[in-house]
Amino acid sequence: MVPSDSTVRVRFAPSPTGFFHIGSARTALFNWLYARHCGGTFLLRIEDTDRQRDTEEYLQVLLDGLRWLGLDWDEGPTVGGPHGPYFQSQRGEIYAAYLQKLRDSGRVYDKDGAVWFRVSGEPALIDDRIRGRVQRLEEKDFVIVRSDGSPVFHFVIVVDDIAMAVSHVIRGEDHLSNSSKHVELFRAFDRPPPLYAHIPLILKTNGPGKMSKRDSGALIEEYQRRHYLPEAVRNYLCLLGWSPKNDREILPIEEIIALFDLPAVNRNNARFDEKKLAHMNGEYVRALPAEEFYGRALPLLREAGLLAGAPTEDYVRSVLALCQEKLRGLEELPHFCAYFFREDFSMDENGRKKIFAAGDPAVRVREFLAALGQWNGEWTENSLEQLLRAFAEERGRKTSDYVHPLRYAVSGQTVGPGFYGMLTILGRERVLDRLSRFPCH
Ligand code: GLU
Repeated sequence: MVPSDSTVRVRFAPSPTGFFHIGSARTALFNWLYARHCGGTFLLRIEDTDRQRDTEEYLQVLLDGLRWLGLDWDEGPTVGGPHGPYFQSQRGEIYAAYLQKLRDSGRVYDKDGAVWFRVSGEPALIDDRIRGRVQRLEEKDFVIVRSDGSPVFHFVIVVDDIAMAVSHVIRGEDHLSNSSKHVELFRAFDRPPPLYAHIPLILKTNGPGKMSKRDSGALIEEYQRRHYLPEAVRNYLCLLGWSPKNDREILPIEEIIALFDLPAVNRNNARFDEKKLAHMNGEYVRALPAEEFYGRALPLLREAGLLAGAPTEDYVRSVLALCQEKLRGLEELPHFCAYFFREDFSMDENGRKKIFAAGDPAVRVREFLAALGQWNGEWTENSLEQLLRAFAEERGRKTSDYVHPLRYAVSGQTVGPGFYGMLTILGRERVLDRLSRFPCH
């Protein structure tokens, strides 16, 4: 942990009652960014006081998702690792001690087996870092410990924020209405409330509502499973409610940390755009240094069984280098490059229709195959390109009249990496073989 000279202490306080949602991830991220921006401390506090059967599984998914996004937390008790997280389920004694303080000062009373908090009648003034000034009056007394002895969320949040010296509470706007209860409790403990920053909601891609767990693209684990780059997902989440002033969208995280600040967070709701996230992921994938791309791609090829024929490392590297620049995401890689590794690759059905609609591809393929069979040129990108260009020109045709059917014949696809590079890597023998078998293979 880097020692910090800042008093800024923020916390992400999820209740693990469901899988890790985009909205929660964004809240965690904004807390983390603010802590890193200020050289402060980022705490992770698990609100697990009403434990359910699924809690353990949800918790693992959450911790895994946070680590995947690189949102490291700074401190906590030694249970469960070098630092933290904090678990509210382990802090019962602290809550009991704080409850006693309220009893001593006469701010609570017992009714129907529950412990009730007596409100002050004074409005809470909140100078929200994002929303501006908000005034709310908490009119009615409220329960802070249920009749079964379990403490209520409002009470434990405030106790922990005091005990952990939290300076800023950065959380979803849906909690704004709770903040007057919290301010009441801080006052009752004779402590100044933290500074609040309520982040606007994330709206669904289409329609007016708030993004829910059931909406497409709502869960972080989905991006993990689909081999999205965590840097891309994190970058996209930064833009859900915040933006650098200069219109740039793809930014290294160090730069975002330097620029991020709470007043810069947008007051308007942000709209989730799955396509934009996919697009950004593609940009990150194409920009990866070759070595890193190789490292990330290899396990995917292996999983898909594409390395079963034990291709040489050089071969795999050249395939990957060729494909990287056209890839829209790692997820599509196995399908995108399967024909480099096996003869029984699939022939895309829509592609077939497209190719046949433009004329009989078998005729073009046969024409070129005849020429290629007699050609003794070097099997390189450049000379293959020259050959095909001259060949098409002699026949008064466009090069693309040949490229499309030929690409389809050797790869089964109508889109893919650079055509001549593809022929070069596949090699003379395999290209001739595939062309001569077309339209069967
Ligand atoms: N457990 C609350 C949530 O999951 C957090 C409340 C807070 O941050 O104060 O939204």
